[in-house]
Amino acid sequence: MIVSEKITKNQDGSLNVPDKPIIPFIEGDGTGPDIFRASRRVIDTAVKKAYAGKKEIQWLELLVGEKGFQHTGEWLSNEALATINDHIIAIKGPLSTPVGKGIRSLNVTIRQKLDLYACIRPVQYISPVPSPMKYPEKVNMVVFRENTEDVYAGIEWPSGSPEAERMTQFLKESMHVDIPALSGIGIKPMSPSNSKRLVKAAISYAISHGLPSVTLMHKGNIMKFTEGAFCKWGYDVAKEMFQQQTITEQEVFEKFNGKIPTGRVLIKDRIADQLFQQILLRPDEYHVIATPNLNGDYISDALAAQVGGLGMAPGANVGDNCAVFEATHGTAPKYAGLDKVNPSSLILSGAMMLDYMGWKEAAAKIRTGLQKAIEQKKVTYDLARQMEGATEVKCSQFAECIIQAIETMS
Ligand code: NAP
Repeated sequence: MIVSEKITKNQDGSLNVPDKPIIPFIEGDGTGPDIFRASRRVIDTAVKKAYAGKKEIQWLELLVGEKGFQHTGEWLSNEALATINDHIIAIKGPLSTPVGKGIRSLNVTIRQKLDLYACIRPVQYISPVPSPMKYPEKVNMVVFRENTEDVYAGIEWPSGSPEAERMTQFLKESMHVDIPALSGIGIKPMSPSNSKRLVKAAISYAISHGLPSVTLMHKGNIMKFTEGAFCKWGYDVAKEMFQQQTITEQEVFEKFNGKIPTGRVLIKDRIADQLFQQILLRPDEYHVIATPNLNGDYISDALAAQVGGLGMAPGANVGDNCAVFEATHGTAPKYAGLDKVNPSSLILSGAMMLDYMGWKEAAAKIRTGLQKAIEQKKVTYDLARQMEGATEVKCSQFAECIIQAIETMS
């Protein structure tokens, strides 16, 4: 019998993953239990198949969200957060935001409390998933979205509140800035330290995965001291930390006649609105996108749509100490308990998690199994309604197709 143990970190920051790591999970609300059940079976099958039963995951359930509230009276306990922190890696289904219960969003709270500063979302086309793009196979990008600040910092006051009034008065008296009466006010903080660590993670990823470019996406033409500064800090990181491995677009044209020297990652920047055009018109020119929180939120959903929608898009929230892998869509409450929705987002997040643990063989089996299941055109409603000749299957049946594909792999 394999003994279950915690994942630990070595002094150099690398992971020490035992053969039976304990991995905390949050099932999630709404459709969360359906997709988590399906994903867990697929992940367990892939691990068993890849390592002939010599490796295994010991799942540890954390009661968070509606389940947490029902059992413990808390939506998100400090104990659950400490358990994630202590086990280094966790995976979660979507959580609904309890309206008017004092917590803005459990998802945002988890990211902020655990300082999971990089939201990493790889977007890659799986044929023959229906896509609005003519050449969806050209979309192959990884978005690094800053997760802890920007307008998501939650510093805002409603119209007419004493805080908004005080702020309005302060701006008028001390800064000589007039804003219309009764304005709601929000603050957009963006710091050099948090921007730089995000860009550092994005460039490191591009280098370690042999990807040709990192694009700094920003709206610095309008918001000069936040978004514009993000862009400048991004170039600073490339210069200060990765000078030998990177080159800027400007240098390529000024010094290398427009040709990127071999072995260098191209660092470029694009204004947000322009990049939204580029990912539709010339997607194959973009590989890693590093961007502040709000831009990242928008562009990752837009990119997910280009390869078949939110049901297909995996994601991870990663910090220096721990990482939480999650479905990128919400709880889709109207389908709760119907065993209907597409579990691919969470299944592919599970593959990302296995990659992160160094269990790459199992991750590859999940991706190949998913690809094979989709090729059979036995898919959940979201894909079936757009795929000619497809048969609609339930969430659990779709997982079963993947499991069968994995089990019959050599
Ligand atoms: P949503 O739950 O993502 O659902 C919006 C629509 O997206 C669904 O009605 C469905 O489209 C489609 N969809 C979502 N997941 C799908 C899946 N697995 N398979 C197929 N289609 C899927 O967004 P929402 O309705 O705005 O949010 C509901 C709740 O989720 C809110 O409480 C929100 O706070 C929360 N949320 C949580 C997270 C998270 O945990 N990270 C993220 C976003 C939202 P059709 O109607 O066309 O079938």
